[in-house]
Amino acid sequence: MPVWKRLLLTAYYYGFHPHRWWRNRRLAAEGRLPLVVLIYHRIADDAANVWTTHPRVFARDIDWLQRRFRLISLEEVQQRIRQGYNDEPCVSITFDDGYAINCEVALPLLIQRRIPLTYFVSTAPILEGAYFEHDLRMGNRFRPNTLAEIRQLADQGVEIGAHTRTHPDLGRVHDLRQLRDEIVTATEDLQDAVGVPIRYFAFPIGQHANLNAQAFHLARQWGFEAACSAYGGFNEPGGDAFHLQRAGVDGPAILTKNWATLDPRKKYQIRRFDYGEAPEPAPEPVGVAAGE
Ligand SMILES: [Zn+2]
Repeated sequence: MPVWKRLLLTAYYYGFHPHRWWRNRRLAAEGRLPLVVLIYHRIADDAANVWTTHPRVFARDIDWLQRRFRLISLEEVQQRIRQGYNDEPCVSITFDDGYAINCEVALPLLIQRRIPLTYFVSTAPILEGAYFEHDLRMGNRFRPNTLAEIRQLADQGVEIGAHTRTHPDLGRVHDLRQLRDEIVTATEDLQDAVGVPIRYFAFPIGQHANLNAQAFHLARQWGFEAACSAYGGFNEPGGDAFHLQRAGVDGPAILTKNWATLDPRKKYQIRRFDYGEAPEPAPEPVGVAAGE
């Protein structure tokens, strides 16, 4: 994030802080406090790209969040949405992609503090050691997590989530066979390899243009508990518990502060992705007895 933008966001955050504080207090008193889900990608000190956060910034983010919020799992986010009532400031932490370097500082810190965490990984990097295309395009060969690391995370209580096989832009994939492979088969492969149920799905990139109504329906039919986007937005009590909205907070700490305290601009600016009513699963074809 350019310095001028960071300064502007900082001025905006502190300038409207009293307004936010009162508004959030009122929403909490009414049980209408939205639930916040944050996304990180890569915690490293090399400032390699915009989705890398410095370990010191990350540790400060987590200290700040722990002092002010109840840190909860995606399952609890869903429970609170379904209850239609939430009176506590809550944040759920997720990671996308699955970079090995997260095992150095970020993941031990969260695990040690018993902070619930959902870790979304793409199957090809985990099972085949493939680098992400978006990294290769920028000349980066970041090592993905190994299967052994993912199994160990699962053993330590981290919820492992699915993030397709090859990290494509699903907004551009309309071939049903390819969609099934990226969403269903890739998840089954991951589940078999890790040996734990995979319950949550996250769209790669996750902006509006990268979502796909058919993919939502496939995810629901297969039995995912939820599908997560990444265009920002909050989860209102009483709202949709299947499509969980998340906000990316890679980089400067002011982003975490701004999103976690429910930036009032976002409520009006963010257009919800409409994936329509999920159709009923297709009935099994009725077999015709031989000879009839
Ligand atoms: Zn991703």
